[in-house]
Amino acid sequence: MPSNQLPTRFGLIAITLSVVLVTIMLSTVGLQATAQSGPTSTATPSGAGTTALIADDTNPYDEPAEYSGDAEWTLTDLTFQSNYPNGFEFHAKPTSSKGPVVSASVQWSHNPHADRARTIGEVDANGLATAIWDATSNRVPPWVAVNYRWSFTDSAGNSYQTEWIVGAEYEDNTRQWTRAESEDIIVFIEDGLTQEVIDMTFDAMEERRPDFIALFGRQLAYKPRAILFFDYDTFLEWRGVTVNTNNTILAGQTTDYWGATVQAFLFGDLEEMTFGTVPHEIAHLYQADLYDFRAPGWWIEGNATYFEISKGYDYEQRVRDLAFFYDIPPLLQGLGPVPNDLGPDERGRLGYDMGYTFNEWLIDNYGPEAHLQIVQLLEEGVYRNESDEFNVILEQVTGLSIAEIERRWRTWLGASPEAPTLIPTPTIEMRFPPTVTPFIFPTAASQ
Ligand SMILES: [Zn+2]
Repeated sequence: MPSNQLPTRFGLIAITLSVVLVTIMLSTVGLQATAQSGPTSTATPSGAGTTALIADDTNPYDEPAEYSGDAEWTLTDLTFQSNYPNGFEFHAKPTSSKGPVVSASVQWSHNPHADRARTIGEVDANGLATAIWDATSNRVPPWVAVNYRWSFTDSAGNSYQTEWIVGAEYEDNTRQWTRAESEDIIVFIEDGLTQEVIDMTFDAMEERRPDFIALFGRQLAYKPRAILFFDYDTFLEWRGVTVNTNNTILAGQTTDYWGATVQAFLFGDLEEMTFGTVPHEIAHLYQADLYDFRAPGWWIEGNATYFEISKGYDYEQRVRDLAFFYDIPPLLQGLGPVPNDLGPDERGRLGYDMGYTFNEWLIDNYGPEAHLQIVQLLEEGVYRNESDEFNVILEQVTGLSIAEIERRWRTWLGASPEAPTLIPTPTIEMRFPPTVTPFIFPTAASQ
């Protein structure tokens, strides 16, 4: 989410545009599935498989092939082709023992736990099915995973839906990129960024791994991706724009729809990008994965900020200064502070920093298990019909009233015990859209 006022020094990036022509490599896999309909039938992938295919028992989609009717199906010439930045296309040659294949469609997703997209294909006179997605809407960045499954129908009405085919990626073959994968994350760096960026990102994620597990109860249900751009024009390209709008410089975006965070390397601070931004954004992916961001904005941002190893400045001191020189606005009333509010000191990021100190206070006093309990209650949604679900959860976890929680947190910060009276002001409601529209975190300057 945007967190800072706009930097006006965006001219400092002088980058050589290095366009490297790479032979277009089609991810070509040969998958042959033969099966007969009936209760005991199963698809048996055989033939010239590639490493891109993941066997049934590790397929994260856990949705086997499906058949209706009594046809025997064969599938060959299965290919995925990235046409980045213009989209991608799927090809396959299905045959049915009962008649020509008359319809074909493809479903795909970038993350097994997120929404799916679908496109209708065409079957030509030779029986070759083609389905094309052109990137005119709902644009996605390069290097997201593209997992997919085909559906076919023959002229007799028999149908066949393949299992999910995983391993394809929306490759940007117009430039030089490096891909690297650790136990925690898959990193893509555009040429211009160096191996050091990969090493640092791996280190940051490894360092945070025990905290993610302790505080969220488990690792993400999928391996997240960090797609790191060196050239800002490249970053703009996939979004289909050539300039930023609203005078803002978008530095990154994260959404669980992609299962990825994308970041532009704007300010020359490797440490901040790898040890600050990446763990912050990955924490947002956990929030999406576990409880769909169902919490106030100050919690969403303050909580993600808590996972930064390298911090932009001393967030806690800033809030302690607020307490000393001004006063701290109420946290647990209404929606609390908006993440980007300026605050009495006009430094911005009010909700981020107050939320950060609340996470510190909570975990210092009640341990990681209190955080985990909050996550689990949000995930279970036991209080979902309560208008102040989040506060009810805080009361349950701490055994204190909301007023007492606020009092203790304020006292810990050196503020007056009682929060100032909340003057009702119009606030931008932090509401995350329903899951059909995956929420996108634009990040400016830092997270
Ligand atoms: Zn954030």
